[in-house]
Amino acid sequence: MITKSKTQLKQGMLENVMRQFNHAADIIGLNSNIRKILSITNNELLIHFPVKMDNGDVEVFTGYRVQHNNALGPYKGGLRYHPTVDIDAAKALAMWMTWKTSLAGLPYGGAKGGIQIDPSKYSNAELERITRRFTYALGDNIGPEHDIPAPDVNTNSQTMAWIVDTYMSTKSPAERSKNQHVVTGKPLGSGGSEGRDRATGYGVFLNIKLWAEKKKVNLKSKRFIVQGFGNVGYWTAYFLENEGAKLVGVQDAYGTIANSDGIEVSKLYQYMQGNKGSIVGYALAQVVDKDSFFELDCDICIPAALGNQITADNAAKIKAFLIAEGANGPTDVEGEEILLKNGVGIIPDILCNSGGVIGSYFEWLQNRNGELWQLEEVMAKLEKKMKEVFEKVYETAENRDGDMRTAAYIIAIERIEKAYVQRGIFP
Ligand code: NAD
Repeated sequence: MITKSKTQLKQGMLENVMRQFNHAADIIGLNSNIRKILSITNNELLIHFPVKMDNGDVEVFTGYRVQHNNALGPYKGGLRYHPTVDIDAAKALAMWMTWKTSLAGLPYGGAKGGIQIDPSKYSNAELERITRRFTYALGDNIGPEHDIPAPDVNTNSQTMAWIVDTYMSTKSPAERSKNQHVVTGKPLGSGGSEGRDRATGYGVFLNIKLWAEKKKVNLKSKRFIVQGFGNVGYWTAYFLENEGAKLVGVQDAYGTIANSDGIEVSKLYQYMQGNKGSIVGYALAQVVDKDSFFELDCDICIPAALGNQITADNAAKIKAFLIAEGANGPTDVEGEEILLKNGVGIIPDILCNSGGVIGSYFEWLQNRNGELWQLEEVMAKLEKKMKEVFEKVYETAENRDGDMRTAAYIIAIERIEKAYVQRGIFP
């Protein structure tokens, strides 16, 4: 078997988002000038920066921030710390953010970035210095009304706390407190919002629930598998289990496990906490070959890790009747064609995982307005918004007799097109 190289995988993600975009743009006959603008990114920043390691040596890191489009508002999107982060990956992920924020009806554009790094190789103190130095190097390329990062793979609320502290420290004392909303996904107590931690997973769960209601499927006892047991994977599994569904397979960066009798979400989570964030060695499940993960017998499959995981290589072997895309870009175009031909439902990433950016928007609003909302209030607002967006996408797909991804893209692109048509192009 010819295995894809790292470079090929990354190129695939950008190619993938472009093919998805062009497909929807063709269907709606998108204005050709607007197509030109949206096919390319506004700004691409590549930064090399030195950091002192614990042993006194200096290492030079490479960081990225790509700002795809801001027609609808400030750039918004996460920061990823992973060896696969490069300019093409950041471009693809930034584009997905533009479609996602537009689809959700938020006053944001799309951006993404990160550092090409394997964070497991660095101490906490080193990661803090790397993050702070990267923030300093980004300077005013980010900002609370300009470009607002958030957590993504291998970054979390602690990372955001270091960023906000560093960013605010570079401002004059009188300006500092006006800059708290430079990032979202902060810890509670440092400007974070109740519910932001679970917002993405809750949104994934809600989308599954709403889809199941439409299809008259009862989620009780339905078996699901999750790829990635981090923020998105864990919280999705938590809410699905609460609904009576059964987790039967998990894959993370270190291993793959399965148990047809069920894996208790809280037990696995607890185990992981004491096992350096890895599921490997969990005694109440069997070890499974990593390449057979997507073939596991189940009803619902939730990719919640990296891009390009479901492809022509494995799509035909998938037994689930529904794919709920917690990750960004987990299914490539060829993989999707096979799934659709086999009658598998797909809730597309820009809809399915949009609870995260909606939760981020709520945090940003609270910071801007000096408000603190209760958890119930945040979750109720999130649920209302997610239901509205789901209904819009589902209805558009039904009316077109087409798939949900194309429907989601159509709604997202048309909103941006309208803004350009109304405003025209300067000068
Ligand atoms: P995370 O760092 O919290 O967790 C990532 C998980 O994926 C970990 O369990 C890790 O071990 C696993 N993983 C990494 N590489 C893997 C591989 N090759 N195979 C299998 N598993 C692997 O990250 P997260 O925030 O949960 O993000 C997961 C996905 O969800 C990403 O695609 C991200 O862009 C997307 N997403 C995240 C948010 C958010 O709010 N955090 C919002 C929208 C979308």
